Amino acid sequence: MLRGVPVVVGVRYAPVVRPGRLPAPEEDTAAPGDPLAEAERFRAAVTAVAGRLRDRASRTAGAAAEVLSATATLAEDRAWLGAAEKRIAAGSPAEPAVRDAVAQFTDLFTTMGGLMAERVTDLQDIRDRVVAELRGMPEPGVPLPDVPSILCAEDLAPADTAGLDPSLVIGFATSGGGPTSHTAIIARQLGIPCVVAVGGLDDVPAGAMVLIDGDAGTVTVAPDPSAAADAVASARRAEDRTAHWSGPGATADGHPVGILVNIADGAAARAARQTPAEGVGLFRTELCFLDRDTEPTVAEQAQIYGEVLDAFAGHKVVIRTLDAGSDKPLAFAGQPEEANPALGVRGVRIAHGNPGLLERQLAGIAAAAEATGNRPWVMAPMIATADEAREFAAAVRRFGLTPGVMVEVPAAALLADRILEHVEFLSIGTNDLAQYTMAADRMSAELAALTDPWQPAVLALVAMAARAGAAAGKPVGVCGEAAADPLLACVLTGLGVSSLSAASAAIGRVGAKLAEVTLPQCREAADAVLASAGPAEARAAALAALG
Ligand code: PEP
Ligand code: MG
Repeated sequence: MLRGVPVVVGVRYAPVVRPGRLPAPEEDTAAPGDPLAEAERFRAAVTAVAGRLRDRASRTAGAAAEVLSATATLAEDRAWLGAAEKRIAAGSPAEPAVRDAVAQFTDLFTTMGGLMAERVTDLQDIRDRVVAELRGMPEPGVPLPDVPSILCAEDLAPADTAGLDPSLVIGFATSGGGPTSHTAIIARQLGIPCVVAVGGLDDVPAGAMVLIDGDAGTVTVAPDPSAAADAVASARRAEDRTAHWSGPGATADGHPVGILVNIADGAAARAARQTPAEGVGLFRTELCFLDRDTEPTVAEQAQIYGEVLDAFAGHKVVIRTLDAGSDKPLAFAGQPEEANPALGVRGVRIAHGNPGLLERQLAGIAAAAEATGNRPWVMAPMIATADEAREFAAAVRRFGLTPGVMVEVPAAALLADRILEHVEFLSIGTNDLAQYTMAADRMSAELAALTDPWQPAVLALVAMAARAGAAAGKPVGVCGEAAADPLLACVLTGLGVSSLSAASAAIGRVGAKLAEVTLPQCREAADAVLASAGPAEARAAALAALG
């Protein structure tokens, strides 16, 4: 079993196909020709390649068409054409001139890193197409397979992936690439299960049978055929259910549960509007400012928050004030150097030494509310005491907004009833609640079994907070990763949680699972989980109750 980074969910079992042969550098024309004739040959090849890409763009739609047009434009980009022509004018044959000019730019992009580095594949694809054209070879790229197949490659060029027929290429795996590469973008659009950065994939030959799992991020070579068929069938059933779920969130017997989305900025909010999510349950504002050295102005903040409020106009939006510190330091927050930052000045605690920071953020949120007409709820991270909740709530109310707090520290769950005297809602952050309940760093792979959200001790604290909410008649949601696990989402519902907020990708699966079970089943699962001694027993008990 080879491991990579999951990009598009789904499980498929099929033979491997690999892209067509690339023109090898050692076969390039080596003897210098007439520079003028070479330049003409070069121009004609570029025009042919760009023309074919545009032609394919006109025959597809959406992101695929955009990617193909962008590649065609890049093929005719003056910077690299000029670099190649300069070499040809100096006496180089066209093929090595193309390679050298492209190398000049790919080296630069690689040094720049990030998104630029992911564009290296695009430019190398153009190089291979132009060189093949110069040699009179067929265009390199993806063959049209005879049977449904899984396309495996080092990295797939956008021009290869954009024109694909998803009934013939039913899965993608690459040994290179990242989750934001064009390959990944197109795989998402086509809905083809996709795993990138798969170690060892280049040794898997064409024709080998593989099982690709876009949930787990794995590629299994030559699996047992009947086990593979079972895995595909069960994943297909889950996909069908998910695809048909359109909200709103409710159990099979009609108990409503808000299904909300976690987002980090306006773009994510706009993308999340394509899901059946009923609103935003957690807007992690600190993620907008991780690269900032100076504090964003009130006006800048208002603009950023306004984008999210606009995207979810007429819907609930919960904005979390800056959760700086620990694994998310903000340069402008003025945090002290600490030996133990997870237990230090993070979250709402920063406001104690720098109250202006919170005031200015609340002013930005209030201005965004005014401008958009969508008044968000506002919550503080890392609340530990009822006094902190009272002070925060007073500040939020001064701006005419609805205050709540996160329950991430066990003390807040234990005294949830007293905290609820001051605020209108609670939102349970199971990621930190698990870290602080189990005294285990959430970033540690070695301690992952301890920070498992199925730990009954963590769920007992969730139950306490939910009970306090029910007694006070105030909503209590979950916005940690626990809410993204469909089975655990049912257990949380049984514990009395009123909304679940998760990443966009998890919304369909959570909503669909919840729609299959009844509230009594959720409650039975919740009781069984609370009576368990550990996470494995808790999961098994929940499965028995929920199917
Ligand atoms: C949490 O702790 O569960 C939470 C939602 O906050 P974050 O993951 O941003 O710390
Ligand atoms: Mg947290």
